[in-house]
Amino acid sequence: MPEGDVLARLARLLTRSLADQVLVRSDLRWPEAAGADFTGRRSTGTVSYGKHLLTRFDDGRTLHTHMRMDGVWRARTTRTPPEPLRQPRVRAVLATQQWTCVGEQLGMLTVLRTRDEARLLSHLGPNLMAQGEALDAALDLAAANFTRSRGRPAGEVLLDQSVAAGIGTIYLAETLWRHQISPWRMVELVPDARALYATAAALMRRSADAPTLTATGSREQSTHVHGREGLACARCGTPIAMASIGPSAMERPAFHCPACQPG
Ligand SMILES: [Zn+2]
Repeated sequence: MPEGDVLARLARLLTRSLADQVLVRSDLRWPEAAGADFTGRRSTGTVSYGKHLLTRFDDGRTLHTHMRMDGVWRARTTRTPPEPLRQPRVRAVLATQQWTCVGEQLGMLTVLRTRDEARLLSHLGPNLMAQGEALDAALDLAAANFTRSRGRPAGEVLLDQSVAAGIGTIYLAETLWRHQISPWRMVELVPDARALYATAAALMRRSADAPTLTATGSREQSTHVHGREGLACARCGTPIAMASIGPSAMERPAFHCPACQPG
């Protein structure tokens, strides 16, 4: 599942491709949005919030897309005549004269009034991809929400989007490894929740801003624990382990070092 860094990249891709240009094509293949048409409108930019994307238009509407497990937006040069793009995985097509943005495998697609965005996102915690003073405020709020989650494992709370928005299994693993905290350590035994979120936000920001050759949201592949089961821990040499975390039916993999991340 894409995490905050990938969503920030996708927001930048959509902004770069669509903003301030008149749309010549708008094709939303989703029941609740099938009647909406952005042809003739201009996008004023796309922002990410956690795992959500908000593409805003000059008529006060926003296209909201969510990537779920496999969703992605890709940009390609607009062709003449237009490509049909009939593949079932294609859920949305937005094009200017120059660029065609194709949303594939999207898990959610809705059109709303831009002024209603806050209501749409009201179930989410603060956005860890915020920047500057907004990031400071987001970290304060995330730490407060985390500390209130007593009796739950730290890893499960990091994944909880209502506590803070943006962290998935990669940054859960990488953050806790850096702080030498087991994903199963209880929240009340974590000494500095704000430092955890600051680390997660910094790692995601670094990934989001790293140069990329593909510009499709692919992430740099440098992790210390995620996806490294059985390989030696870079700190102590113990084989990295993986176990499930989270409530039953919502379990996610948590990679960790059983030796240097004590519970
Ligand atoms: Zn270790």
